[in-house]
Amino acid sequence: MEKFASHVFNDAVMREKLPKQAYKALKKTIEYGLPLNADLAEVVAGAMRDWAVQKGATHFTHWFQPMTGITAEKHESFISPTTDGRVIMEFSGKELIKGEPDASSFPSGGLRSTFEARGYTAWDCTSPAFLKEDASGVTLCIPTAFCSYTGEALDKKTPLLRSMEALSKQALRVLKLFGNSTATKVVSTVGPEQEYFLIDKKYFDQRPDLIFAGRTLFGALPPKGQELEDHYFGSIKERVGAFMKELNTELWKIGVYAKTQHNEVAPAQFEIAPIFTSANIASDHNQLVMDTLKKVANRHGLVCLLHEKPFAGINGSGKHVNWSMSTNDGENLLEPGHTPHQNMQFLTFLSAVIKAVDDYAELLRLSTACAGNDHRLGANEAPPAIISIFLGDQLTDILEQLCNGGATNCKVGGKLELGVSTLPPLPADATDRNRTSPFAFTGNKFEFRMVPSSISIAGPVFVLNTIVAESLSYIADRLEGAQDFTAELQKVLKEIVQKHKRIIFNGNGYSEEWVKEAEKRGLLNLRSTVDALPYFITEKSIALFEKHGVLTSKEINSRYEIVLENYSKQINIEALTMLDMAKRKILPAVNSYVTSLASSISIIKNAVATADTGVQEEMVLEISGLLKELKSRIDRLEKVTLEAKELHDDSLAQAAYYRNEVLTAMNDLREVCDKLEVLVAEELWPFPTYQQMLFKL
Ligand code: ADP
Ligand code: MG
Repeated sequence: MEKFASHVFNDAVMREKLPKQAYKALKKTIEYGLPLNADLAEVVAGAMRDWAVQKGATHFTHWFQPMTGITAEKHESFISPTTDGRVIMEFSGKELIKGEPDASSFPSGGLRSTFEARGYTAWDCTSPAFLKEDASGVTLCIPTAFCSYTGEALDKKTPLLRSMEALSKQALRVLKLFGNSTATKVVSTVGPEQEYFLIDKKYFDQRPDLIFAGRTLFGALPPKGQELEDHYFGSIKERVGAFMKELNTELWKIGVYAKTQHNEVAPAQFEIAPIFTSANIASDHNQLVMDTLKKVANRHGLVCLLHEKPFAGINGSGKHVNWSMSTNDGENLLEPGHTPHQNMQFLTFLSAVIKAVDDYAELLRLSTACAGNDHRLGANEAPPAIISIFLGDQLTDILEQLCNGGATNCKVGGKLELGVSTLPPLPADATDRNRTSPFAFTGNKFEFRMVPSSISIAGPVFVLNTIVAESLSYIADRLEGAQDFTAELQKVLKEIVQKHKRIIFNGNGYSEEWVKEAEKRGLLNLRSTVDALPYFITEKSIALFEKHGVLTSKEINSRYEIVLENYSKQINIEALTMLDMAKRKILPAVNSYVTSLASSISIIKNAVATADTGVQEEMVLEISGLLKELKSRIDRLEKVTLEAKELHDDSLAQAAYYRNEVLTAMNDLREVCDKLEVLVAEELWPFPTYQQMLFKL
């Protein structure tokens, strides 16, 4: 308890360190999202500095999240020279609220030319400042939003904050209609479960593919994979346990509610989940979790892999983003209530989510798109690339009956009438048995299971917030000014369920039948990043994000370019790494082996003329055949990789070429190398094997 948040300038610290008036003013600023005035900033900065310096801080940084997907920081020390040749520790209000980092090397997707290098970071006072302690010392980190000179968002945080405001605004309109006059804000709440792999650093260091691409580009399957399911929830090995212990301590210090930890399905795979909090803080914290995972692993001679698919043939990693909406007086809007009134409100918010997910399935899908996730979705280990909602039988039944008119029967018996009767209790565990759904209702929240393990959750969450804000705005438009509120609500909900029930699917999402059924229902199946991304720049998408003030058309186009470019760059790095490994390591290794086999034939024959060297001859033939194939597949990959580079003027065409041609050539090259791996003598194989990496922790 003492350690928790010891490194966070949180509410308790602020109350203690700030003069009463300043504390009140700051609270109000945070609560209502008001701009921070200069005088107040000065007072807060002084208190923050004193607190940080007392805890050993020498530097501060505006901590932000550019479109690279990781966090960025530029440290500045507090020192300021005095006339007598000494220094004092200084930190001004101006330095707290605004930074001006040279932004020229962050991706902007054409939003800013290099000569307008200036970017701004601005304190997001809804996320508390914290101290980062590592080998570089103690640094005061101020969570900030990052935008260009002309005010366009260049980061992950800005649209997330804007979407939270949009959702709050529309949800409050609906709440007001239900007679709620006390809530002044609705926040989206998020709890992300993070999956990751750990491998021994000595193996990692010998694998250029892991170093450069984060995933293995070669590797034959070991004799044992995950088929025995003996790793899942298994007892945690001591070495990993020691790592987890330190991880938790580090996270608790910076205020992350690290709560659950366990072995995951794949060998060497694990999960950590914090207790949910507001979307913005959850997103900041998830970045810190990823950062801390890597740092602490390193201290234990381990490497943490956050890639979606580090090992072929073995389950990959995702992030389950648990999401709901809550009023500032603590009411979870997706919690089925106990009174008819609460139930009616619950069904309204539930219907809003259903409508949103069906209307904008393509946006949700593309919010999870990246090169790594393409290996995972639809591969029978993660949901398919088709968006659908799992509600469970009971809720589905209730909605269907809503559709059929006012008074209805419930599956468990009894009558349900909107505004009159209560819902039967929905046991949470009854709704959580289907693990194959990309978007599942789990009792009092939704679990978005498509999200990739390596990316910031800000993207998926700002999309979710915005599309639900749009649904709520539609519902509020219909209901405001209605003569008979309950009758009109009944009508609206009925229409929503009728129109959008195609998105509800409670069956096995991994099955072939579902793919066919979904097609019949007219649901999109956007298999890869390249298929999904063009939906970002449609008129429909731009109209949505502009209406709710989340992204401008310019910002959308820049993000579209950044994601596509990133996709192509990533595959290009993978292709070059493969070529390097195949040409300089695998080919020579195979050649030495086959040469040693060949020379053994003549040595044996020389020694004993009648000896049978049939086996050696067969092996030489087989391996030489594969060697030839290896060379031709290297040549092919080299050729298409060069061709892909030529397409730089058209980012979509280029990304499509990488997916269609380069990835195919990579798979072909891998296939022959993996065959060779199990033929060549172990001591000659140049890389650690799957067996070593996955089973020797
Ligand atoms: P499971 O593995 O069964 O999905 P976990 O306990 O690992 O369950 O994760 C559930 C996550 O959902 C936790 O992070 C939890 O805090 C979060 N959660 C619970 N209630 C809400 C809510 N109302 N809004 C957002 N997240 C929530
Ligand atoms: Mg889960």
